[in-house]
Amino acid sequence: MKSILQTRKRCFICNKANNLHEHHIYFGSAKRRISEANGFKCWLCLEHHTGTFGVHGIKGYETDKYLKKVCQMKYEETHSREEFMKLIGRNYL
Ligand SMILES: [Zn+2]
Ligand SMILES: [Zn+2]
Repeated sequence: MKSILQTRKRCFICNKANNLHEHHIYFGSAKRRISEANGFKCWLCLEHHTGTFGVHGIKGYETDKYLKKVCQMKYEETHSREEFMKLIGRNYL
């Protein structure tokens, strides 16, 4: 499944075009698979992926929260809150 957040291969945060990693927005245990199946993913540069302020970084909490929020908003443009909750089990909005 393609990303529901972007069509171009660019860092979703800073728009950089090189050194990109594919990030699954809702990750850990079963959620990575659910993210893959529903296109809950985006491209991130190295810094915004695993750097200090990157989603998986030591100070990445805000970035992680932001992506989870934006992705839920995008999904709910075409689906209901109930459908989102069924998949992810948590409301980020
Ligand atoms: Zn970036
Ligand atoms: Zn990731």
